[in-house]
Amino acid sequence: MKAYRIFSPAPIETNPIFRADLPIPEPGPGQVRIRVRACGVCHTDLHIAEGEIHPPVFPVTLGHQVVGVVDTIGPGSGARVGVPWLHWACGICEFCRRGEENLCPDARFTGFSVDGGYAEYMLADVRYLLPIPGGISDEQAAPLLCAGIVGYRALKKAEIRPGERVGLLGFGASAHLCLQILRGWGCEVLVFTRSKLHQDHARELGAVWAGSVSDGQGIGGRAGKFLDKAVIFAPAGELIPFALEKIRPGGIVSVNAIHMSNIPAFPYASLWGERTLRSVANATNADGLEFLSLAAQMGLYSTVQSYPLAEANRALDDLKHSRFNGEAVLSVS
Ligand SMILES: [Zn+2]
Ligand SMILES: [Zn+2]
Repeated sequence: MKAYRIFSPAPIETNPIFRADLPIPEPGPGQVRIRVRACGVCHTDLHIAEGEIHPPVFPVTLGHQVVGVVDTIGPGSGARVGVPWLHWACGICEFCRRGEENLCPDARFTGFSVDGGYAEYMLADVRYLLPIPGGISDEQAAPLLCAGIVGYRALKKAEIRPGERVGLLGFGASAHLCLQILRGWGCEVLVFTRSKLHQDHARELGAVWAGSVSDGQGIGGRAGKFLDKAVIFAPAGELIPFALEKIRPGGIVSVNAIHMSNIPAFPYASLWGERTLRSVANATNADGLEFLSLAAQMGLYSTVQSYPLAEANRALDDLKHSRFNGEAVLSVS
């Protein structure tokens, strides 16, 4: 089978993903084999490809937003399923016992600790497969599996209540789905992003305001109106002090990023007033189930840019340079 793998990290402009021809994998206990149909391209894949986060071994096949069909006899045979980022958790540590398997110290992740979906076939743990609601195409479903699920967890961690005024900083795959959820909750959404293309996309999806961070300097403070909550999607540390300055006392900033540049020093006054800053790490199986049913109920629509599997390098390069709206999805079969 064909698999597109990273052998050693390098800038994406140098095309570090190479095709390998591998045997079709055989599932072990508790696993199923998935015939991949589509795989979403996540910013995390770019961080791995460029060496900003480090998988335990190379080479590795990227891809953790996988829509495919269970190809083996046994549980779920023939079913269309989604494979998310969380591949496996131990089930017995203090985190797993609290239902926080996203924080399990021994957790394994799809397309990072184990091979993922930039391939014709892959293995998955049967416990973490997600059912894809009917009526959603493979391509439409792929972005829901990380951009959607982890974005939804970031909204929950920001404790957003209906009708609140929410800032989204960065506007790619995850934020464009979060904006639709927030609109469904009757929230007023402001989007901060450098990309004009992404600003237009945010306005089309119902943001009341979209502009760059410098355009947004006037929001908050004595002159302007504060945000209640903010969610940061872009991996830029300087957005943290900015977001804290824009939220009201008691507000929350949640950070949906697996990697971020250093946070510049900022005055304690920006955090004072019981403001909260928190990161969001991975997602639980319950988040996945809850989000997919919400996505079907709200009719969330993924804006998708399609690429053939063989063009994974180009998809990641276009992601890095904000050349499309929404999410890139690789068509596999
Ligand atoms: Zn992801
Ligand atoms: Zn555990």
